Amino acid sequence: MGVSEQRALCFLEEKQAWVERARQRLMERRMATPAPKEVDVEALRRAAKADLPLRMERLAAQTGLRYTKLTIRATRTKWGSCSARNAISLSLYLMTLPEHLRDFVVLHELCHTVHHNHSERFHRLLDSLVGGREKELNRELRCYAIR
Ligand SMILES: [Zn+2]
Repeated sequence: MGVSEQRALCFLEEKQAWVERARQRLMERRMATPAPKEVDVEALRRAAKADLPLRMERLAAQTGLRYTKLTIRATRTKWGSCSARNAISLSLYLMTLPEHLRDFVVLHELCHTVHHNHSERFHRLLDSLVGGREKELNRELRCYAIR
């Protein structure tokens, strides 16, 4: 409003040229960037050792679920596991997940200290610990592949 059609068109053309130049710059930059580096496993391991034991202790204390031992491994096939003796193993690749999903995996394994299976009762327990969001969190977790 209050701007002549001529000026409006001119303005659009200018913007279009600017967008085109920006797009060009982005493409060039993308081509100049080397392929993404392999994940630094040792850095992930250090991060995992600084994060997971405390996270595990905190969530165990909060829920009253008890585990006997925590091991951190470079497992690529699953985020975690729980033995018959309630020793929990967590993948250091958990550090590539957002924190709320890291908590969710830890809680999943802690629930296995009570139910060593994926029975209805297991899911009821886990669901109750995540405020009824188990399905939603599982869906979200599936979007992350272990890298
Ligand atoms: Zn499980």
